[in-house]
Amino acid sequence: MNANLYALFESRFPADRTDCCIETHDGLYYTWNDLDRASAKIANLLLRLRLPEGARIAAQVEKSPEALILYLATIRAGYVFLPLNTAYRAAEMAYFIENAEPSVVVCSPQSFGWVSQIAFAHGVQHVFTLGEDRTGSLLSRAAFQSNTFHTVHRDPDDLAAILYTSGTTGRSKGAMLTHGNLASNAEVLHGYWQWRQGDVLLHALPLFHIHGLFVASHGALLNGSKMMFLPKFDSKEVIDRLPRASVFMGVPTYYVRLLADPDFNPDVCARMRLFISGSAPLLKETFDSFRERTGFTILERYGMSETAMLTSNPYDGDRIGGTVGLPLPGVSVRVVRDDGPACETGEIGHIQVKGPNVFAGYWRMPEKTQEEFTPDGYFKTGDVGRFDGNGYLTIVGRSKDLIITGGYNVYPKEIESVIDDMAGVAESAVIGLPHPDFGEAVTAVVVPQDGATLSETEIIAVLKARIANYKVPKRVYIVEELPRNTMGKVQKNVLRERYSEG
Ligand code: ATP
Ligand code: MG
Repeated sequence: MNANLYALFESRFPADRTDCCIETHDGLYYTWNDLDRASAKIANLLLRLRLPEGARIAAQVEKSPEALILYLATIRAGYVFLPLNTAYRAAEMAYFIENAEPSVVVCSPQSFGWVSQIAFAHGVQHVFTLGEDRTGSLLSRAAFQSNTFHTVHRDPDDLAAILYTSGTTGRSKGAMLTHGNLASNAEVLHGYWQWRQGDVLLHALPLFHIHGLFVASHGALLNGSKMMFLPKFDSKEVIDRLPRASVFMGVPTYYVRLLADPDFNPDVCARMRLFISGSAPLLKETFDSFRERTGFTILERYGMSETAMLTSNPYDGDRIGGTVGLPLPGVSVRVVRDDGPACETGEIGHIQVKGPNVFAGYWRMPEKTQEEFTPDGYFKTGDVGRFDGNGYLTIVGRSKDLIITGGYNVYPKEIESVIDDMAGVAESAVIGLPHPDFGEAVTAVVVPQDGATLSETEIIAVLKARIANYKVPKRVYIVEELPRNTMGKVQKNVLRERYSEG
């Protein structure tokens, strides 16, 4: 059997291939035939380039149906897809191109000048352009190719993609994902979230990250479902299209922004079946307000570039706010102590995972890869959490963010939750800073709500009444916003650097 992921998708195309597969924000319809033929043309073009086995096709392009088709064409032709965040500039692109050594780079026509310069300087042979409006050399070259293509045979262990991690805790690492990894996770999520006939996905996520490229698109592709593409999240545009959708996936900020829009009400959700959140922690407050406003309970799930999705709140059972749910079928998740043994129920420890979804290693980092696996084959996620008595996992933070002060472990999330509950607080980040006596000093960085004024002494006073003294921040900084990476995740390493200098 051909384990090429594209072959799996193709086997699930709807019977009528003239059905709509992707509807664009500006009203274009792409059928399943279009998807098949356009990916065949690009796959033929790639094959003609006579690239080496395992060649990487790097793409830094704006979101469009063709960007997704380029991904499908790459795996169809048996090459390795390497999506890159559109926010990356010269220094970052130079790092990724040098590190991944792609054979082909596809960029937007506007950035051809600087991207091609970097690419050629690093020995890349082919640079194509692809615009969000079907412009560029990739499509003009592919236009001359045949629109049929025999999907290349791949084994489950063959590489399909390299996803660079978001770079929240340090430099991005290339996670090597195989056809088997992606197929197993896509199938599991398809069943777990009960994709069904007639589902329509409103797709507002970027295509360069696991969430939009795999979790969202794969679900719709496996289900033969239509996707409505938005080039980026915009609450008005989402509210406009939600009445025709049944599934929506977003990062927590999408939900915060939808709730901030007075036009977001139960009527626009009339056809909706499922709202899913992931990539970062969804505040309990957002979870609760969403349910109050719409009657829908957001389903939160947890995963990462290296492993795809690991846990999910159930479709039918209780979806518990503040938790990331239960291990997905076939995925083994455990929480362990520093020195190895499993934690008791409720005890906080390191999250480790094993399963067919777990990646093949970090690209060209064999030592790092080895370090991150236990002798019995579990991957160390770098996240810290605990299981409750019903098997639900709660993430309390990242091991790198854990604070040890005067010998006590302090989990930032616990303190952040208390601060976030205070009147006038929009959000907060708690970090540890080097301290001569305590080792690390708990420090809070707090963003007030619009128009609210907060003071350091007041916050500290409230905290003293609510949590143990050793957890109370020694300092509280009030700021207008928290530093975030291009995926919208709070960069605690940036905060640590900023305030340890001051
Ligand atoms: P880097 O590994 O480069 O520091 P990153 O870990 O942010 O960056 P990703 O692979 O994009 O890169 O993100 C995975 C991480 O996102 C997880 O390890 C976890 O910390 C966080 N995450 C994902 N989903 C959730 C969730 N539902 N709740 C809390 N955290 C989540
Ligand atoms: Mg990570």
